[in-house]
Amino acid sequence: MKSDPFELARKKMVEQQIISRGIKDKRVLNAMMKVPRHLFVSKNLMNQAYEDHPLPIGEGQTISQPYIVALMTEALGLKGNEKVLEIGTGCGYQTAILAELCDRVYTIERIPSLSIRAKDTLTHLGYDNVEFKVGDGTLGWPEAAPFDGIMVTAASPKIPQPLIDQLAMGGKMVIPVGDRLTQDLLLIERVPEGIKKTSLGGVRFVDLIGKWGWQE
Ligand code: SAM
Repeated sequence: MKSDPFELARKKMVEQQIISRGIKDKRVLNAMMKVPRHLFVSKNLMNQAYEDHPLPIGEGQTISQPYIVALMTEALGLKGNEKVLEIGTGCGYQTAILAELCDRVYTIERIPSLSIRAKDTLTHLGYDNVEFKVGDGTLGWPEAAPFDGIMVTAASPKIPQPLIDQLAMGGKMVIPVGDRLTQDLLLIERVPEGIKKTSLGGVRFVDLIGKWGWQE
């Protein structure tokens, strides 16, 4: 096997940024240890791929900070047999982490060039359990619903109703909700009485733009 020059950087990222901040799910830690994050950013940013901050991916968008990816993923509590919807494919890094941890990922991106590039990267890496769509993710993916998990990787002023409707009973959704500068990262669980909300802390994400998000 070809050796990976970034393996040590990835190990340090997991130990110093993720385990040290309290992420415990072994499957999440293994996925973060395995997925080559440097292959999801442009060549000139590869050396920064494992640093403790987001990075630009073009089109004014970003790849999230590693810890935030781990925190959001752990919150979904994936065991391996789930169907997960992701809103905001971006460069596809979070998509790859989800693809490692569940049965099938449905991912939606509104910017066609990002979706195409993410699909290329994931295909090149051998992921065959991901469905891609270009469009407004605030509408969800009704034909494939219900979902056991929904991950929204852009910030919304409110929880889009179609996403609540497409969450299976017992399913979990992670979404940053707030204004355009800061948001609360919410874990939403669908329970027989309705929905249960838990705050996972303050975050700052790019805008979720669409019918049920921000207007352009
Ligand atoms: N998870 C991504 C990754 O690993 O690169 C990071 C995603 S970035 C923080 C948020 C993404 O959400 C952007 O690519 C943006 O274009 C996309 N986005 C914003 N509004 C959207 C919508 N309504 N539907 C789908 N994607 C949307």
